[in-house]
Amino acid sequence: MIKEKGILFILSGPSGVGKGTVRKKLFEEETDLQYSISMTTRDRRPGEVDGVDYFYKTKEEFEQLIKDGQLLEYAQYVNNYYGTPRNYVEETLENGQDVFLEIEVQGALQVKENFPEGVFIFLFPPSLDELKNRIVSRGTESQELVLNRLKEARNEIEMMDAYDYVVVNDKVQHAVDKVKTIIKSEHLKRERIAKQYKKILEDELS
Ligand code: 5GP
Repeated sequence: MIKEKGILFILSGPSGVGKGTVRKKLFEEETDLQYSISMTTRDRRPGEVDGVDYFYKTKEEFEQLIKDGQLLEYAQYVNNYYGTPRNYVEETLENGQDVFLEIEVQGALQVKENFPEGVFIFLFPPSLDELKNRIVSRGTESQELVLNRLKEARNEIEMMDAYDYVVVNDKVQHAVDKVKTIIKSEHLKRERIAKQYKKILEDELS
């Protein structure tokens, strides 16, 4: 029996877009994915559990993990460190299970460099659609406000470049359904399936 490697999925996007909410809902529904619990130096919030929501570390512990090369990626966000444990991700993928990361954009770009075969999903705010409607209907908003929003939107669109898929987070359930569709489609990719069959044939013919 051949064991295929798992697929690494990365959900990321601009801050405040609702990545955490989408990820939590996805995991209430999707059972075949393994969520990679991140390390952080930020304080535990009420209701959060060490080893469930995050592995909570001191700044010194975290910096040691960086030095020891134990993080697949890490970033500083609002004066705290956040990072993905390398061993957990690599071992789980080797074991044939899919791994899911929910991380901010700087970290996602690092994963893209180290792990280009990952599947990168950009969660996008619905505000761009709204912006489009406003421009089309030439609404009452001040020129300056629209210009600022346009600049912000351009930054967000440029951020998309490194990603394979874009999911608009208009409603959480819609976004979750789309992420599930992406996961299913990735498993049906020709290269992936052909590789499995080729391996079986090679084993039989050798
Ligand atoms: P929070 O403090 O609200 O739980 O998370 C703050 C931000 O950190 C969110 O955008 C979340 O996606 C991101 N984050 C969580 N874990 C990681 C991680 O391991 N690496 C990176 N780069 N960002 C993370």
